[in-house]
Parts: sequence; C-alpha cells; structure tokens
Amino acid sequence: MADFFIPGQKAREVLKRDIQMNTVRQGYIFEGSDGIGKKTVAREFAQMIFCSGDNKPCGKCHGCSMFNAGSHPDFFVLDQSPVKIDSVRDMNAELFVKPLIAERKVFIVDHADEMNNESQNAFLKSFEEPPYYAVIILITSSLSKLLPTILSRGTKVSFNPFSQREIEKFVSDKYSLTGARASFVARYSAGIVGRAVEICEDEDILEKRDGIIKAISKLSHEKVSILELSRAMGATGREAPTDADFYFDVFSSFFRDVAAIKAGGNIINTDYKDVIESFAANIRGSSARGVVEIVSQTKSDMSANIKAKMKYDLWIINMLIKCWEEIYGTGNRS
Ligand SMILES: [Zn+2]
Repeated sequence: MADFFIPGQKAREVLKRDIQMNTVRQGYIFEGSDGIGKKTVAREFAQMIFCSGDNKPCGKCHGCSMFNAGSHPDFFVLDQSPVKIDSVRDMNAELFVKPLIAERKVFIVDHADEMNNESQNAFLKSFEEPPYYAVIILITSSLSKLLPTILSRGTKVSFNPFSQREIEKFVSDKYSLTGARASFVARYSAGIVGRAVEICEDEDILEKRDGIIKAISKLSHEKVSILELSRAMGATGREAPTDADFYFDVFSSFFRDVAAIKAGGNIINTDYKDVIESFAANIRGSSARGVVEIVSQTKSDMSANIKAKMKYDLWIINMLIKCWEEIYGTGNRS
C-alpha cells in the first residue's frame, strides 16, 4: 500500500517533523471527520514521543514495547461520549503527577467536542498552562463546539478527506474492488477511509445494499410493494439491526441520485445508473427530494427517541408509507 493511502498522511508528516525537530508542542487539536484516522495518528504520535529508537516508532525499544503492550504508565486516553466532568477532574489531577518512566506524559482526549462548557472550563487551566512534560491531544470532529479559549491554545492539525480517485485506488489495492463498485464505495465514503474500509470489510453489506436497491426498483402503485423493501431494510423484528444507519443511507442516496439525474447532476450509486435512470423516468424530482427529506427526518426522530430502536419495524413501515405516498400519492401535487 502506497504511503499516501495511509489515513492522515499529511497530518503525519507535520507531526513527524515536530518529533525530528524536537518541537513537540504541549497542546494539539486534531480535527476532521469521524473515521478519518485522527485517533490512529494520535496513538502513533504518542508512541513516537515515547520511542528512544532512531527510526520512530521503532517498535523495539522499551518505550515502544510498553506502549504496544498497552501498559505504558505515562500514556492516558480519555475516550468517553459524552465526556464526564469527573473524568476531566481525574485527568487534571493525573496531569500534575510527573511521568514515571518517560520524559513526557501524553494525554489523548477523544470526542473533545463532547465536553460540555463546564467540563471545558474545568479543563481549560490544564490546557493553558500544562506542566512542562505534558503533551495533550484533543480530538474533535467539530471545532465550533470548542471554547475559543481552548481553540486558541492548541496547535491545530487538520485531517482532510481523500479524493475519489485515491479511495478508488485504495479499495482496488486492498480489496480488489474495481469498476463501478469501487466508484460507488469512493463516492459513498466521501473521502473517509474508515467508511470505505467499513463497507469493504463487511461481506454482507454490499449484498444488503443490492437487496435494498432491487426492492426500491420493484416499488409500484400497489402500496403492498413496500413490504419487500421493509424486509430489505432489516425491518424483520422489533430491534434495529446494527447496520440500520447504512440502510437509511442507501435508501436515501438512491432517491438523492434520482433527483440528481432529473437535475442533470452526478450520482453516487454509479453501479446502478440504469436502475436509477428508469426509476427517475416515472417519478417527479420533487417527490424524490421529498423522500430524501422524509428519510432524514425519520433518522433524526429515531435517534432522539430512546425507545425507537425497539420498534424499528414500525418506524420503517411508517416511513415507507410516507415515502410511497410522496411518490404515488393521490393528490395532484407537482
Ligand atoms: Zn521505539
């Protein structure tokens, strides 16, 4: 695998330079989409800081061995969603205890944007004036949720999505996926390697997508035609399947594509271009956009409703009825 397919390659170069020039900062803010590799790179950076070998991380020295065994006493990860204030206070206390075996002590705070204002304020002093040996890495997918005072004290390291061509090459090299299939994965993943890997490593998921698209193509003026689609979307029991988000995305992307075809835009499901085109011929663009809106609304209503996961089948059926009415509805909407 060529170097530049490694997640966060540009960020890695920046950090490597900090190590080589001995200019490691005390506060970093890693920002970028979920699944883009921020945490992986943060851990690797921590290991480089602890490594005493020449080619860091060497994987052989004492620091590396301890790190790889998950038992380095000067390495801390706060990984909570949302971040609890008690954990922030514990970390504050830990921060002022000198390192045990290394010269530095490294703290990673994942989901930093999920610290509420109280937690961020409790953490602020540590981040503003850390002890000389501390390196703190905040990880966030949303800079706007961090207090300006926190933002101004950290060195920002951005993780950018890959281009479609890069993801296509990646899935072709690593998973032997080519052609329209690879192109779909690239578009669907929106340049985020983690999402591409997720699809490629789940053997069933592409098949399930095929099932959903097939069921959509069989939708008709008969309302009962939504039943096959509901089964394809995993609504066979009360409990939501683990892949539910993906099903919503596939369903929604199909209708987004229909609207795009109507408007002469680019589609995501390139491997199903024919199916999308023939579906588009029989539905209004406004209906397709309406369906996308219904799906997005259902998804957000479901995530706001704690019990929704236990009534998944009902949610899906209700959503599909609304979508069906949007497409074939009795009214004369245009
Ligand atoms: Zn080492």
